[in-house]
Amino acid sequence: MTNRILVTGGAGFIGSHYVRTLLGAHGPGDVGVTVLDKLTYAGNPANLDAVRDSAGFAFEQGDICDAPLVDRLVAQHDQIVHFAAETHVDRSITGADPFVQTNVVGTQILLDAALRHGIGTFVHISTDEVYGSVDHACPETDPLHPSSPYSASKAASDLLVLSYHRTHGLDTRVLRCTNNFGHHQFPEKVIPLFITNLLQGRKVPLYGDGLNVREWLHIDDHVRGIELVRTQGRAGEIYNIGGGTELTNRELTQRLLTACGVGWEMVDFVPDRKGHDRRYSVDFTKIRTELAYRPAKDFDTALAETVAWYHANRAWWEPLRAHDLAVA
Ligand code: NAD
Repeated sequence: MTNRILVTGGAGFIGSHYVRTLLGAHGPGDVGVTVLDKLTYAGNPANLDAVRDSAGFAFEQGDICDAPLVDRLVAQHDQIVHFAAETHVDRSITGADPFVQTNVVGTQILLDAALRHGIGTFVHISTDEVYGSVDHACPETDPLHPSSPYSASKAASDLLVLSYHRTHGLDTRVLRCTNNFGHHQFPEKVIPLFITNLLQGRKVPLYGDGLNVREWLHIDDHVRGIELVRTQGRAGEIYNIGGGTELTNRELTQRLLTACGVGWEMVDFVPDRKGHDRRYSVDFTKIRTELAYRPAKDFDTALAETVAWYHANRAWWEPLRAHDLAVA
């Protein structure tokens, strides 16, 4: 077996897609994957059903803040791909504590264990939100201006990861991605929230004037980018990654209404989110030129596929709707 990879947060949206893709792409015995996941409201063991019986797969329910557990697991692995986080901005506004615990303290506990056990590569999944609200596509060298407790906790974890490279020489690689979308996303973030509301005949809540701009990245493209960075990236580097489609939330809403066959009468304009960033945007020239990354998914086709998936998989998301908040 060449690599034994510890994947934190592997029962969530992006992490589970990463694990399914990795184990699907390698022959039995080529790669070993252990998922460490606390199974918060956002973690769903069913997301891993497709790989549960794969050779080399193991699942451990646990918290990345549990230092003895992390120490034991890290000792058995060569690499770490770190997705585990509290991820919903609205929840961080109503309560920041789990964000600081998991995103900052949990990351530090993982880094310390990685150092102790000589982990070969530590891939950290960050976000474009660390740059804050911007009027240009940010290169990796831009300063960090996070606005929400969520993005501040992610910025803190980024800086910790980078410090373990600079101070200790740990091989760390940071990816800062734009908004992801696709199947198996918990229905609290804007795309799955709007689709599932519309499928249930409920209105969708659009924040403020709806002119906030986000860049969209399909999970297939993101997971391909993560693999490029894990296998061919450089130690100590940051790689922005995007999908190339920037839309206002109004434009996104129009597409979702059309895809679900309804009109603007299904939209409630609700008061803006506190501290709502106007625009996120990254310049991903570096990953294009160094690692030949290109987003391959056409946005409209991928959005239609996503709507079709939620339509066909009501049994997956209907029990989760009890948890929904407002728009991500
Ligand atoms: P998610 O909310 O779907 O999943 C997070 C997972 O982490 C869940 O399975 C949860 O159970 C697990 N988890 C939470 N706290 C934990 C802890 N203390 N110990 C162990 N496991 C814990 O998140 P996602 O959308 O898949 O995001 C994955 C990563 O990508 C996060 O680091 C997030 O900040 C980053 N990211 C996501 C997006 C996006 O659009 N979804 C955009 C940019 C960056």
